[in-house]
Amino acid sequence: MFYPPSLDLDTAPELDVLAIAAHPDDIEQTCGGALLRMAEAGYVTGALDLTAGDMGTRGTPEIRIEESREAARILRMAFRENLKMPDARLENNISLRLTLMGVIRRLKPKVLILPYWEARHPDHYVACNLGFEAAFLGGIRKMDDFSEPHRPFKVIYASMYANVTPSFVVDITPHFEKRMESLFAYASQYGEQQSGATLFPNKEEIYDRLRSIARFYGNLIGAKYGEPYVIKETMRVDDLMTLGVRTF
Ligand SMILES: [Zn+2]
Repeated sequence: MFYPPSLDLDTAPELDVLAIAAHPDDIEQTCGGALLRMAEAGYVTGALDLTAGDMGTRGTPEIRIEESREAARILRMAFRENLKMPDARLENNISLRLTLMGVIRRLKPKVLILPYWEARHPDHYVACNLGFEAAFLGGIRKMDDFSEPHRPFKVIYASMYANVTPSFVVDITPHFEKRMESLFAYASQYGEQQSGATLFPNKEEIYDRLRSIARFYGNLIGAKYGEPYVIKETMRVDDLMTLGVRTF
């Protein structure tokens, strides 16, 4: 049973998986497949976009937030919110860290997905550090008298934008088309239009590019489409018989 994503932090459910990203539509390109897969497996998932893209060439923050809600519905998220922090000049400062910490404490995610820590766009690596440090502060009881301390058990980094060897790849073969549909829900960004026409590739080009990348990572694990992730800790294995990805 899926329902429209909650938009209200007060009534939001506690989450199994929370993805944090700098801009609306980052999640649809980097970790939307894994979020959808987890939701279909019965886990409660959600996303926090830190900025509304107010510096973007196309669309307005209001339109992009509206589009992100439709994308959340397609990806079967139980929650999505936009914190409306400053786009293109996102800062990792104490006030934004504490704001984000409060939201993480409220949502209590067990797994936190952040953007990979190196990126071409400064907002992406700032979002990574901001998310990591906010999650750390979340565990310190005296940080805030009004909320229960909480830290996610696991932080994983969506590395689709980065050219790095992933720690693991999630098979998103059955979810790839829905993920593309969620990206194209941002009609202000990906619809046919004149504004920024020389700056933005067309829809077919974007589809082709993202399909090639997903095919590449899928190929690494013997699947059609994959989404790459990096983790900082070593993976633990308890049963050698359950190791995935065949050698021959
Ligand atoms: Zn972005």
